[in-house]
Amino acid sequence: MTKRKAGLNTICTHVGEVRDTQFRGAVSPLYMSTSYAYENVDIKRYPRYFNTPNQEALCRKIAALEHTEAGLIFGSGMAAVSTSLLAFLNQGDHVVLSQQSYGGTHSLIKEEFGKYGIDYTFVEGTGVDDFEAAIRPETKVLHLETPSNPLLLVTDLEAVAKLAKSRGLVTLIDNTFASPVNQNPADFGIDVIIHSATKYMGGHSDICAGAVAASAEHINRIFQLAKNLGGSLSDQTVWMLERSLKTLGLRVRAQNENALQLARHLREHPDMAAVWYPGLEDHPGHAIARAQMHGFGGMMSFELADGIALDHFVNSLEWVKPSMSLAGVESTLTIPTLTSHALLSEADRERAGIRPNLIRFSTGIEEFEDLRADLDQAIEKAKRHSGVPTEN
Ligand SMILES: *Cc1c(COP(=O)(O)O)cnc(C)c1O
Repeated sequence: MTKRKAGLNTICTHVGEVRDTQFRGAVSPLYMSTSYAYENVDIKRYPRYFNTPNQEALCRKIAALEHTEAGLIFGSGMAAVSTSLLAFLNQGDHVVLSQQSYGGTHSLIKEEFGKYGIDYTFVEGTGVDDFEAAIRPETKVLHLETPSNPLLLVTDLEAVAKLAKSRGLVTLIDNTFASPVNQNPADFGIDVIIHSATKYMGGHSDICAGAVAASAEHINRIFQLAKNLGGSLSDQTVWMLERSLKTLGLRVRAQNENALQLARHLREHPDMAAVWYPGLEDHPGHAIARAQMHGFGGMMSFELADGIALDHFVNSLEWVKPSMSLAGVESTLTIPTLTSHALLSEADRERAGIRPNLIRFSTGIEEFEDLRADLDQAIEKAKRHSGVPTEN
């Protein structure tokens, strides 16, 4: 009998379990030991070697979710980003990144890379031509983020992977916003897939972790640096992350569905200046997103019409909370001009399309009708407060 390839929710539920052979319990036992009798000189189990029973099992689940040979888990998303970038870059090398990269990645590069003698270029556009134009003879790595923060701009994964292969470059992607449910970059030839597991993988706003998925060879290269840098995850959190991942497919598909309905509703709303969601036909990345994503994700941005007081809108929301983070089962929002993009000049923000009334929205699993009603009533209250004429 040939073995059927497991589907998403089956992988989420079963792959990478630690079998409880002693008591035959339903869930993975948690092994908290930091000391293990060594089996031989080659296998020494130790948390910072990323090979405790719970870590090894969770790495199998991450790899299965991203369709790669191997995986590695870290103490934070930034530990995963920094270790992966530095694993493939040496003194004198150059890396090309998207200007739309996560704020912490920007800080890492701008504040730290100078002292390692690693040069970098942030490219403004999200097209493969933009990346190609920035490649130099010393370039070793292309780092992507798609869909991007906060406008959900989309880069063609297959085109970038092809370009990188022709130039002998390693491709890294921060796949946090899509999650493995909506996008599997390895299927398009991207080498190293990075997640802030603090976001969709954790999904309940109570875990800080990072994950990387890649070929066994690439994971081994990242591991060689990781064991020296020491960014491993505590086994308690590993266990919680395994538990969270069991519902990843259920959660993210519900978030996709809510986000698509909400984007369509806001798109028709007279008080919206713009709605950015890759699932909308008029989003600039829609065609590519359709081709390379399984779902369009839970993240979107929208811009209130001029004259509507943003702070009053945010304070009038009953279910939706302002939050720095994202991707939990609860809907949250942030104001990019006040948070993630506060340090940019107004001119730079304007150029990037980040206007003062822009809101980045992380869609939760609440009932769509409740979310719609909450946003609508907050818009009405903010309009009344701002002296904008209302219908009633
Ligand atoms: C949050 C986030 C990170 C960093 O993850 P931490 O777990 O906070 O270290 C990296 N990339 C993206 C896209 C993120 O949203």
